[in-house]
Amino acid sequence: MATPGPDPSGRPTSTPHRPAVPGGPLQRMEKGAIAHVVAIGSGKGGVGKSSVTALLASELRRQGFSVGVLDADVTGPSIPKLMGVRGPLLDRGEGIEPARAVNGATVVSSQFLVESEETPVIWRGPLVTRLILQFFGGVNWGPLDYLLIDMPPGTSDVPLTVFQAIPIDGMVFVFTPQELAALIVRKAMNMARDLHVPLLGIVENLSFIVCPHCGERIEPFGPSKVPAIAEEYGVPLLARMPIDPKISIEGDAGRTSEYASDAVAGLGAAFLSAVKKAEESRVTVL
Ligand SMILES: [Zn+2]
Repeated sequence: MATPGPDPSGRPTSTPHRPAVPGGPLQRMEKGAIAHVVAIGSGKGGVGKSSVTALLASELRRQGFSVGVLDADVTGPSIPKLMGVRGPLLDRGEGIEPARAVNGATVVSSQFLVESEETPVIWRGPLVTRLILQFFGGVNWGPLDYLLIDMPPGTSDVPLTVFQAIPIDGMVFVFTPQELAALIVRKAMNMARDLHVPLLGIVENLSFIVCPHCGERIEPFGPSKVPAIAEEYGVPLLARMPIDPKISIEGDAGRTSEYASDAVAGLGAAFLSAVKKAEESRVTVL
């Protein structure tokens, strides 16, 4: 399968990604020809995790990387709408072919398996987990520079199993300023840490508003507690993303990939640098 754009990593691109779906959920799956598998998580829903995932995917595409997005937020899939991509998923007997967004990113979502965006997805528990593992192992993703997994929020059995079964190179958490004191943030961070998933950093979303009249930066939720929690866990604050009506407008129209800003560029740069740093520290350990 041809991937869009140049391959700046210089990695060989001939290995097909076709690992078997495991018989048991705790069996570790293979990465195949995906260079970096990164999960994007949150403590709870509604913090703009999917929006951050779509914006990061777009920025990585702009930089020339090949990118896939696995929408694992099965009960609230919003990636297809944000990225303006539709199913159906095709399987010609050699694994599932992902759908392709306008910007060239490949996408798989449970949304593609139901009739319309209004159809609720009511699968639960083990079935959701199995579907996500199928989306990882049964899809012809590779070769890819980055596979971003839009995780289900929280600390239920579903993310737990995903962490154990999928070889995740790093995890990015998306929090909003007002929830940073909450227990759920710590629970989510602790789960990843306890499972030895490297924490790449935190994105503070819906962080501030820039006044359209005078350009003043307004922090509606007061001074941020992000630096404190980042320091506590020893992870960088990758970006502070503003509340920008343009993000919602472009997202609602499926044109997230057309939204570019200093904040998004900064997110991309900080993300790439965190991935590099994590790789270097892994080499040191070996
Ligand atoms: Zn003003």
